Amino acid sequence: MKRTLSTELSQSVSQKVRVRGWFHSIRLLGKVNFLLLRDRGGIVQVVVQDKEQLRRVTSLQVGSVLAIEATVNASSQAALGVELIDPDITVEVPVTEVPPLEYNKPEIGSDLEVILDHRPVALRNVQIQAVFRIQAEIAHAYRLYMHDVVGASEYFAPNMIGASSEGGAEFFNVDYFGYTATLAQSSQLYKQMMVGVNERVFALMPFFRAENSNTARHLTEGKQLEFEMGFFDTWHEVMNIEEQVIKYIVKTLQERCARELAALGNPLIKAPETIPFPRLTFAEAQQLYFERTGKDDRNEPDLSPASERALCEWALEKHGTELVFVTDWKTEKRPFYSYPKPEDPTLTNTFDLLCAGTEITSGGQRRHTFDSMVEGIKMKGMDPNNFGDYLSIFKFGMPEHGGFGLGLERLTMTLLRLKNIREASLFPSDPKRIAGNRIKAKIYYGGENIRNEILRLLKMHEMEFKHLVHEETPTSEDSARVRGTALEDGVKAMIVRGKTSKRNFQFNIPSDRRLDMKAVADAVGEKCEFEDPAVISDRFGIIVGGVPPFGNLLNLDTYFDQSIAARAQVNFNCGLRTESILMRGPDLITLVAGKLGPFAKAG
Ligand code: ATP
Ligand code: MN
Repeated sequence: MKRTLSTELSQSVSQKVRVRGWFHSIRLLGKVNFLLLRDRGGIVQVVVQDKEQLRRVTSLQVGSVLAIEATVNASSQAALGVELIDPDITVEVPVTEVPPLEYNKPEIGSDLEVILDHRPVALRNVQIQAVFRIQAEIAHAYRLYMHDVVGASEYFAPNMIGASSEGGAEFFNVDYFGYTATLAQSSQLYKQMMVGVNERVFALMPFFRAENSNTARHLTEGKQLEFEMGFFDTWHEVMNIEEQVIKYIVKTLQERCARELAALGNPLIKAPETIPFPRLTFAEAQQLYFERTGKDDRNEPDLSPASERALCEWALEKHGTELVFVTDWKTEKRPFYSYPKPEDPTLTNTFDLLCAGTEITSGGQRRHTFDSMVEGIKMKGMDPNNFGDYLSIFKFGMPEHGGFGLGLERLTMTLLRLKNIREASLFPSDPKRIAGNRIKAKIYYGGENIRNEILRLLKMHEMEFKHLVHEETPTSEDSARVRGTALEDGVKAMIVRGKTSKRNFQFNIPSDRRLDMKAVADAVGEKCEFEDPAVISDRFGIIVGGVPPFGNLLNLDTYFDQSIAARAQVNFNCGLRTESILMRGPDLITLVAGKLGPFAKAG
């Protein structure tokens, strides 16, 4: 029988159908039981009464792949208006392992860090899935509008490039046959070249930024919705097009993503089609911020995050939209190619677009003659000789032109009022993660890996140590006996969890003493509790009892009781309960770069 999607079921009331999808949950009520099945359309309810049918699914975990033949029954209670009855269930792929997160709940109750640690399954959560369906619609709507309405051509620029495209910003280097190449931080120069070819061009470009920005709105890899156009009567036409495309995106989401928006609690920002985005000059924006808050930033060259928020609040109160353009930025703060205002060259024909409190775009008119471009490059203290390819186009006829770069993750985040840009990136990279994975914890995951790394470090630093292999020692007392050492020379390595942040920290104290939770709270700035051994084994791949005092290898802030710094000899399990290291106390602290404090109290 052909597969029917959950969304098509209402057209087949009273008929027999075959659905396929993932086992989402089951509610057991005894006689009648409700199984939920997820497919790409949504979630369908299946009423299971037959004992044999029920038996097939009761031991299954979330995510099991099922095929179900059943009859469609109209039901006012069910979300889709229909449910399935009298099912015949086939388990296509059983899942028996408990998933690391309860992703089948409407909202995963965990901290974002935990969600990112389990990204591949967390993405299956209905709310998280909704964010990325919406993001896909945003990109699709952007393409449609640029192609069909604006008449722009899509271009595909290189991402691996020879030299820096703009100077100033930080670049990731890659080894290119022994030559150092860089990952493009924008396609700015290419899109300008393409104006000379096709006049109006757009792209969905990856960008890479090697900035160590640990904020809620910076990633090190993202996607940029690019646009550039030549020939306009006024450079404000660039803003007009951006305004129209954003309104088109918002309208598309309202029309096509009702289910996803509802799953997220209808967060979509206000940007009514009929209300123009207000346009303020940079000077006016600063004045307005000063008048609204009394805070005088009028001599600052940039807008602070607080002023970006205040300006969007103003736009909502005064105009009923949450987007506002800020134009005419100072020349010193804009890139070399920015077009100086003819009437005041200390200012430029440039703009930022702010959305719900955050910058989502920078754009503007560009210099378009050779001489002007050379002047711009020199003004920023750079050498025109390094801009050969780029400069050449300005010798061969470039019209007046301008454009913008609109960050896809920033746009997704602000349109949906997400708190953190990482929620708008499938596998976010930032200074602590690459493609979603923690940089350190992933490298040293599991007892063997951690033991190997500790041994490597000890050898590399030429430190004195002994490595013992012995019977399993779950407790400190066992360890002391097996190693033939005094209990107080043992180091107990403990992983705690902040009650508010849910972050993990490591505290290392002598084995004969106890952790002083008050001192712990003072050190990390919040109350802590011991982390669950099951979580430790899942997150770090180590069994409690084998945890080494090397929290740094687990990407944890690590603290030592100060008495350890004075011990001639310390010993500890090095990742496995069957192996120990004996070494000098001060060496240990140096190697881990741990912080010292009074963390132990009498046992
Ligand atoms: P910010 O001042 O917020 O760091 P920027 O002014 O350095 O951003 P631009 O060079 O103007 O950024 O880039 C254009 C757009 O690209 C930004 O408005 C934003 O939407 C997006 N963007 C830039 N940097 C990042 C980043 N690190 N992470 C995510 N998006 C970014
Ligand atoms: Mn910017």
